[in-house]
Amino acid sequence: MENLSNQSDSILVKLTRGETVVCPRCGKSVILPANPNIEPSKCHGFYCPKCNFMVNWDPMVIVE
Ligand SMILES: [Zn+2]
Repeated sequence: MENLSNQSDSILVKLTRGETVVCPRCGKSVILPANPNIEPSKCHGFYCPKCNFMVNWDPMVIVE
């Protein structure tokens, strides 16, 4: 699990570029922006609607 933060960083990089990222936890959905009303490049939080996996620019709020 020590690589989780690095993995989340790369997920965030892809998401903020507007790329589609499949949830690394459940693999059954794509990661969506927490706020769909703003551009992905400006969104600081993303989540998986299937398993509630969350990634955020603040590493302290990654939810296991
Ligand atoms: Zn998931």
